[in-house]
Amino acid sequence: MSWSFQIARAFGIPIRVHLTFLLIVAWAAFSWGGRHGFHGALFGVISTLALFVSVTLHELGHVWAAGARPPGRLGRSVLAAVDEGFADYYAALVNRSPRVGGRDELRDLERPPPPAAAAWAELALAPEGFDPHRLGHGLAASLWALEPANTGLLLDLHTGLASDATYTGVPDTPGAVIEELARRIPNRSRARFEQAVAAWAPAEVLGGLASVDSARAAPGKMRGAHGP
Ligand SMILES: [Zn+2]
Repeated sequence: MSWSFQIARAFGIPIRVHLTFLLIVAWAAFSWGGRHGFHGALFGVISTLALFVSVTLHELGHVWAAGARPPGRLGRSVLAAVDEGFADYYAALVNRSPRVGGRDELRDLERPPPPAAAAWAELALAPEGFDPHRLGHGLAASLWALEPANTGLLLDLHTGLASDATYTGVPDTPGAVIEELARRIPNRSRARFEQAVAAWAPAEVLGGLASVDSARAAPGKMRGAHGP
């Protein structure tokens, strides 16, 4: 006998609920109900289901936006942070709530972590064991602050992230990789994405995000700006 049953299918992926999840729901009902009666139990059940939906949306956001990723460690790490930001932003927009569930914590897009110099330093120094969620939270908060109700920016950022074009030849620096991602984002949302990035990442990290439009006019110049 299987201990899980399918409740839905999204992006070709079956979403299955393990029977033990019902124990968690029951535990929430008893735990909150014991202290606060019927309404407490109801709160426990609804909160647990909302967390399940939010976590599921976050993970589906990753599946939906899967595309080519840079081969270099720095570029891969910075896009991993962008992926986390995208997944949080996606979950928040679909759920119409700035509170999103990660695998092991709740993140509120209206209460981003303080400017994370330490997290950026961690990315620069040890990208192998780097945890992208904290930086992603900051980017999601920037995106949410710009567009909390409209899905245009989300869809266009998805277009950029889901692109299959390789990052071969793009220098392995956060600035160059973000710039390449910006180039993959449709025109109408590119400036907004750059605005969100500017509010998120320190200029020193990105090495100054060159305008993609001016880079288009002189592509040779732009690569040169990031060194060999
Ligand atoms: Zn994630």
